Amino acid sequence: MAGLWGEIVGRTRKLLRESEKQTQASERRLQEFLAAIQASPNGVMLLDPEGRIEWCNQTASEHFGIDAERDMLQLIGNLVRDPAFAAYYVQSDTARGTTMMGRGGTASRPMRLSVHLHPYGEGRRLLLSTDVTALEQAEAMRRDFVANVSHEIRTPLTVLTGFVETLQSLPLDQAERARYLELMSQQASRMQSLVSDLLTLSRIEGSPPPSPLDWMPVDDLLGACEDEGRALSALLTAGQSAEHLLQFDHVPGASLAGSRGELLSAMSNLVSNAVRYTPAGGSIKVSWQPLSDGRAEFAVRDTGPGIAPEHLPRLTERFYRVDRSRSRETGGTGLGLAIVKHVAQRHGAELQMQSTPGQGSRFSIVFPAARVRAGATSNPAPTVQ
Ligand code: ADP
Repeated sequence: MAGLWGEIVGRTRKLLRESEKQTQASERRLQEFLAAIQASPNGVMLLDPEGRIEWCNQTASEHFGIDAERDMLQLIGNLVRDPAFAAYYVQSDTARGTTMMGRGGTASRPMRLSVHLHPYGEGRRLLLSTDVTALEQAEAMRRDFVANVSHEIRTPLTVLTGFVETLQSLPLDQAERARYLELMSQQASRMQSLVSDLLTLSRIEGSPPPSPLDWMPVDDLLGACEDEGRALSALLTAGQSAEHLLQFDHVPGASLAGSRGELLSAMSNLVSNAVRYTPAGGSIKVSWQPLSDGRAEFAVRDTGPGIAPEHLPRLTERFYRVDRSRSRETGGTGLGLAIVKHVAQRHGAELQMQSTPGQGSRFSIVFPAARVRAGATSNPAPTVQ
């Protein structure tokens, strides 16, 4: 086609091509935009003025148990039946959001969602959801922890106050006064141990990861544990007919990398537990053993009462005790194994526990090869699982 008509057709085609290109570019931008919202860790849902679902990302469909295709244009109120959400949805002011049960959790760990509705456009609403399960769990743990600490401090404090009042109000003879003062001193020590363990825990939590370059002789650590263990044993068995049989390995040349304070605290906690829970006459063996794969194991074995299997998984929880009275009698705080586990984790090590009721327990820390240098021991033990 020539002439004017040809010119018109040519220009129209060009315009059409350009408009097609623009449409494709807009489509591409829209797809990129939707892909970005899909990648969001939060749920995003668009609702029309009647409350019908126009679009939602994958996270929102998991949070609310919605099928992104089947449930399109369904009313949100029919699909999300949680009473907290229903009450929130009809409020006129939704700025503060609400929390509700999500659909993505398990029976033992139900999902908790924080949801917010934001108005936009002409009567449309944007529904944002965030998984706050871990956050709520951490908050519950913090509350439990504060309640436990308060309880642990209140008990000795109540006893102390009672004794102070008795001393103030009753005419006691010398022997009675001495006995009361001794009991008061025990309660004060109990609070002191608790505060000291709490400080250890918070110091560990707040400090940078232990250096892999600070090497120290294992013998020094074992020596310090031995001094503490023997002193504690002498204290606890004083006046009894039998003593503990304590045995400590000597490993000249072996070294370990990490934080000396933390390692000492973890190791001596295991030794102190063995001494405290093993009745006089029992034996405690503390060893250091390089393993064939380059790791090394610090182990404390005792012939104490042992621990029933159902308690083992909970022993490292703060304030968890199998035997409350024995723990308190011997100056336990319920924080020892929590400290050990924390220190082990920070050093890339693993805390292992084996115990048979009536026969004794074996607690060990297996250190990674990168933090261990072998000593004089020539035949490494087989790998511990
Ligand atoms: P505690 O200060 O009460 O000893 P831990 O966290 O050190 O707290 O230990 C938790 C609980 O594990 C103890 O209360 C005790 O019941 C049990 N336990 C720990 N070590 C031993 C052991 N060697 N023998 C028997 N029971 C133990």
